Amino acid sequence: MVDSTPAPKHAPLAAVIGWPIAHSRSPRLHGHWLKRYGIAGHYVPLPVMPEHLAEVLRAMPHMGFVGANVTIPHKESVLALADVVTDRAALIGAANTLIFRADGKIHADNTDGYGFIANIRQHAPDWIPGLGPAAVIGAGGAARAVVASLLESGVPELRIANRTRIRAEQIRSEFGAKVVVYDWAQAGNMLEGAMTVVNATSMGMQGKPPLRVPLDALAPGTLVTDLVYTPLMTPFLTEAQARGCEIVDGLGMLLHQATPGFERWFGQRPEVDDELRRIVLA
Ligand code: NAP
Repeated sequence: MVDSTPAPKHAPLAAVIGWPIAHSRSPRLHGHWLKRYGIAGHYVPLPVMPEHLAEVLRAMPHMGFVGANVTIPHKESVLALADVVTDRAALIGAANTLIFRADGKIHADNTDGYGFIANIRQHAPDWIPGLGPAAVIGAGGAARAVVASLLESGVPELRIANRTRIRAEQIRSEFGAKVVVYDWAQAGNMLEGAMTVVNATSMGMQGKPPLRVPLDALAPGTLVTDLVYTPLMTPFLTEAQARGCEIVDGLGMLLHQATPGFERWFGQRPEVDDELRRIVLA
């Protein structure tokens, strides 16, 4: 006899996978949205050592997980383990959002660039990317997502400088002729005439020295943003503001990059507002 009992319906589960993971603000962020929208789901931090990543990913869909965020050190290695990788994740070379599809396939995407642009659009709605060159300081993993999203947004030229020049050269060779590499010692000069300026290094973060790029060439009115959000007002943003620039802090990028995943997993487009900022910062 065929058992026609419907499979038990479980509350959907999502996770953030990293090693270590205790510092992650994502559980607080998604937990707030789950509560706010009355969704019977759970979002949990999963500490996963690199040597266990493949087996954990294979097991998660069978344990009720509908997806996951991925953080350091797994953002690059998940690409090889996913069945479907979006073009932007492939171009960036890293994924931060996984969707476990009903057909059992793992879909990998990168929403950092989306979060970066959505943050600027929310806090500087008059920003026009096509108005002039953008300058990106740093060429690490996050910088790659920023570069991809700025080019997609229509910046006419993208200048980049990194302490280790070869990483910036690599970005130029992968992202094309609009990318112009400046020497690290010339990073201050690349700000001349730039309309959008981004710190994509980890400098200025709590416990780290401030970014030491001279900002004299920054013109008033330039849109200046920092990926670092601890502290919210980095020395870089403080100086840019004193020079009359329009500044956007990095917290909104973290909040906005989380929205596509939440929507796919839990079926609700979540809102990024001041209450969420307060909760994540608390
Ligand atoms: P990463 O891949 O490790 O890259 C770090 C970057 O910082 C590289 O460009 C590195 O230059 C530069 N750097 C580090 N120490 C330096 C120093 N002493 N002097 C000059 N440059 C230095 O890290 P990532 O993932 O790109 O993250 C970069 C920052 O963005 C981190 O603070 C991270 O927390 C933040 N972030 C924020 C968000 C958000 O949602 N707001 C999202 C992602 C990342 P070298 O190549 O020379 O080492």
